[in-house]
Formats: sequence, C-alpha cells, structure tokens
Amino acid sequence: MPVYTLYIISLADTWHKLKGRFTTGVFITLPITVILVAVILNPLTKDMFYIDENFVYTRGSMFWVAYICALSYVGFGLFYIIKCRELFRTSHFISMLVIYPLTLSAVAIQCVLPMWIVELFFTSVAVVIVAITIQRPEELVDMVTELGKHGAYADAMKKNFVNQKEVGIILINITNYSSVASMLGYDLSAKLLKIVANKLAVINKDMKVYAGLYYLDRGGFRVVVNKNNWDKIDKMAEAINTELKNSVIISQLELNIMAHVCVAYCPTDIPDFKTLISFGTELSSSVPYSGNVLKASDIIANRAFKLNNEIDNIIDDALANRRFSVYYQPIFSVEKGRFISAEALLRLHDEKFGFIPPDVFITAAEKSGAIHRIGDYVLEEVCHFISGDEFKELGLDYIEINLSVAQCMQTDLADKVLQIMNKYGVTPDKINLEITETAASYAQNVMVNNLEKLTQAGISFSLDDYGTGYSNIKSVASLPISIVKLDKTFVDEENNPRMWIVLKNTIKMLKDMDMSIVVEGVENAELAKKFAELDCEFIQGYYYSKPVPKSDFITFMKNSAS
Ligand code: C2E
Ligand code: CA
Ligand code: CA
Repeated sequence: MPVYTLYIISLADTWHKLKGRFTTGVFITLPITVILVAVILNPLTKDMFYIDENFVYTRGSMFWVAYICALSYVGFGLFYIIKCRELFRTSHFISMLVIYPLTLSAVAIQCVLPMWIVELFFTSVAVVIVAITIQRPEELVDMVTELGKHGAYADAMKKNFVNQKEVGIILINITNYSSVASMLGYDLSAKLLKIVANKLAVINKDMKVYAGLYYLDRGGFRVVVNKNNWDKIDKMAEAINTELKNSVIISQLELNIMAHVCVAYCPTDIPDFKTLISFGTELSSSVPYSGNVLKASDIIANRAFKLNNEIDNIIDDALANRRFSVYYQPIFSVEKGRFISAEALLRLHDEKFGFIPPDVFITAAEKSGAIHRIGDYVLEEVCHFISGDEFKELGLDYIEINLSVAQCMQTDLADKVLQIMNKYGVTPDKINLEITETAASYAQNVMVNNLEKLTQAGISFSLDDYGTGYSNIKSVASLPISIVKLDKTFVDEENNPRMWIVLKNTIKMLKDMDMSIVVEGVENAELAKKFAELDCEFIQGYYYSKPVPKSDFITFMKNSAS
C-alpha cells in the first residue's frame, strides 16, 4: 500500500506540489516508519510475527498495527485518486481504484478463514490489472522513433496544466515532412524519423537536460523540459535547429529537412492545453520558415496569430450583430460598352483588428462551419438588393455571388438558395454563382447534384480563379458552367511572351467551348484594351472600380450611365 500510494502520486505527476507540505509528508512517511520499526524490533519483541515450535510462521499479537498503517494508505490513496480525478482517463481511474476493494476483501477473507492465504494473490491481480490497463508501453511509446506518442504527450501536458507545473517545450515541426514522406514511402520515412529522434536523444543526453521526448505524427516532435533545466533550453533549441539543418542521407538520397523549432513556456506563454495543441499544429502555417529558433512569446504577440485565435468569435459576433457588409465590384461588358453585372464581395470590419481580409475569415469560417451562415447572409443581402427598386434602374443583368467549397458540399444547398431567392422574389437569371476549381475538383456527387439542380432552376455558374489549379481543363469540360473567370495571376504575366501564348490559346479554347470569359484584376487601360482585343467579353478590376459599398456602387453605376 505505501508503494502503491507513491505510484499514484507519480501517475498524477504531482510530486512538485507535495514538496515541503508537512502534513502530507507525515501522512506518507509515518505509517511506513511505524511498520519498519516494528519489523526491525521484531527479533526482540516477536510482536509482529514469530516462528513457532513447529517451525510455522505465525502472526504476532501486534500484527494489527500493520493493518492500521496499511489502512491509512488506503484512505490516503482513495482520497488522492478522487481528488485528482480530472487527471486520469475514466478507464485508468477505474483500474486505479480496483486494488482497494480487491485487497480489502482479501483481508476480510483471510481474517475469517486464516487458512486461505489470499491477500498477496488478490493484490497481485490488482497490480496486473494496473499493469495491463495503465502501464502499456505500446500505448505510450511510438514504435518507430521509440519516443513518447501523441497520447502520452497529451496526457502529460494536460496534467501539467491542471497541476500548474511549469514546463518549457521545444516544438519541432518538420515543415516539409509530408512532401518528403510521400517521396520516400513508408519504410524510408520511418528511417528518417528514427534519425531525427536519435539526434534529439543524443542532444538530450549530451547536454544532460533529461527532457521528455515525444513524436506526434506528421513530422512533429516535442521536447519537454522541467523547470530546473530551463537555463539549458535555449542552447538545446539552437543545437537541435543546427543539427536538423544538416542534410540527411537515406538510401543515396540527400534530404534537407526544413523544421520550425520554437521554444514555448507553459503556462506563461501558452495558458491551456487546447491552445498548446493548436499552437503546435498551426506553427508551420502561422509563421514563415526562417531557419531561426522561434519564441512562442513573439509569435503570440503577433497580430496575425491573435487574429487567428480569435477569428471564430469575431465571426460569430459579426453575424449576430450584422457587422458583415457586402461590397460590389462592377464588371464591364466589352461588347455592350457598359457595366452589365457586379461581383458581391464580403467585408468584415472589427473594432479591435480593423479590416479583416476575406481570405482570412472565409478560410476560418470554412473550418468552423460558420461559412453556411455567412453564405446565407450574403445571398440574403444580394437578393434584398436585387429585389429593390434602385437595382432595376441600374440596368444590371445579374450579380455574381461566391460559393465556397464547403457550401458546395452541403446537401441542401440548392434548396436553400432557391428558398432565399423565392423569399425576395428574385428570378434565377439575376444570379450567377461563382465556384472555384478547388470545389470543382472535389466534384463529388453532392456538388454535382447541387449544380444540376440549380442549373435546371435557371441559375448560371462561373468558374472562378481559372488558371490557379491544375485540374481546370477537366472541370471546365465536365461541369455546367457558362462563364470562366481568368485569374489575376494570368493577367500579371502580361510581360511573359510564352504565358501570353498560353493565355491566347486558353481564351480560344474556352471560346470554342462556348464559354464567356471574365478577366479579373485588370488595373489599367492598356490591359483592358489588350484583353478586349483578345475577345474577352467581360473585364473586372481596379481599372474600373474597386469593390465598394452598395450605396457607392449605386452612385458609380448612375454616373457611368450618364
Ligand atoms: P475572388 O472571388 O477571386 O475575388 C476577387 C478578388 O480580387 C477580390 O478580393 C477583389 O477585391 C480583388 N480584385 C478585384 N479587382 C482587382 C484588381 O484590379 N487588382 C487587385 N489586386 N485585386 C483585385 P477580396 O475581396 O479580397 O476577396 C478575396 C477572396 O475572398 C475572393 O476572391 C473570394 O474567394 C473570397 N470571398 C470574398 N467574398 C466572399 C463571399 O461572400 N463568399 C465566399 N465564399 N467567398 C468570398
Ligand atoms: Ca470570385
Ligand atoms: Ca477570382
């Protein structure tokens, strides 16, 4: 029981908390001291046990003292496990408790039937249960790297936060792991990981840091350093960073590892478990690779990082308080010599962060699912605009609305779009939906069904950002699309003669397929003229107007008509 109590404290990883606590110290040491003293004095007193005249081991008159002492450990252990409940998974919690009823019932049995020596047996059974449920190396240790696994890291870190234990973590994310791994295949990637793991282990040993080493899948390693070794943490991070920059040779391939190495202190830099995990997974995407050791405190102080952390709340709040606004950017028809449509583009202005670019909030909303509410909001706003009297005076044929990938994958997208249009009495010819190649390349049944349903209802589609993906030719050919929007990257290549050839032929190919073409991102008269000469029907860009609020757009349209 005393040993088991020590085991519980270790499992809860709370030694640092008990240090210097007098009463707990007494609780843990006094009973065992009593037993030890009694056993040491036993040859003189024969109070605990003796060998009787028949050479049989017999318990002495004071043996109950050992039971009382053990009972005090039972009480303490039970109390401690229950107090630290949140540190353990349910299955571990239960198996940690099992020892008590088992041992107590064994003691009871042995009291009544002294011939049944079952105490040790029952205790062994309990220990085996603990061994197979809690102390499972295969659950805690990664077989390839022989470092701690993700689950072990998560358990340890959760405990640290609950126990307010300060640790320093060196986060190492191999940024180019997925591309390297797909080139190497399974066996060789395993070799690579093993090499990296060994490098970490060697540095850990040479510098005598005694850090916990973990491998978290997908090229993520973590080095967890206890507070008493924090003076070495920066040096260790530098050593790791330098070591990882050396190229690695695996079966005649010379590989260069690109790793983000970052030092974070918990809970000072990173206050809770959830933030730690997301900080780790987003490290490579939130900071560009510089080759230097990063500091979590710097990254967290950075605006982009803060924004990324808060964006979900900002979006919810903006939706609730209608702080999103829809801007419009006119699209010029070369043939008709006037603006025939406009693209609706969403804007978000936040009190704290100011203007937040749509790329940022749309990406976040796609991840959180808020994109569906945002999509509904844009559609409602646009339909409201189209159904108003002012719109009729502007002489616009239709408004283009962006659909994101996540929206296209929604089973009830078509019904929802039609329902909102019905609500405002908007006819389908007034709406054009822009989808991206990414959405098109997902071309799963849901998406195709949505497109077909909406096309049948009379709504037309544009393929947005054409030229930025690689599956574009197939999606253009197979989806019911009437307009293709040439991405600005095409336009930016105007001085590249070869690109101009690609562009000319792309336009010709699209024309042969009976597509209309919108050129995006045209910023000057010269370019507008060039594309008009290439037979592009529509031109959109800052040359005519930036995206502007509805009222400004109306003014713009009225002025352009006169
Ligand atoms: P997009 O659909 O490709 O939108 C065109 C982007 O190009 C807009 O950026 C527009 O402001 C910008 N642009 C237009 N003309 C020019 C030009 O001449 N020069 C330059 N440099 N840029 C020009 P914006 O508004 O920042 O939107 C970025 C992206 O965010 C959009 O790209 C679209 O994918 C997404 N987005 C915006 N609003 C919505 C929305 O309501 N729903 C969805 N799902 N996505 C949206
Ligand atoms: Ca667009
Ligand atoms: Ca575009």
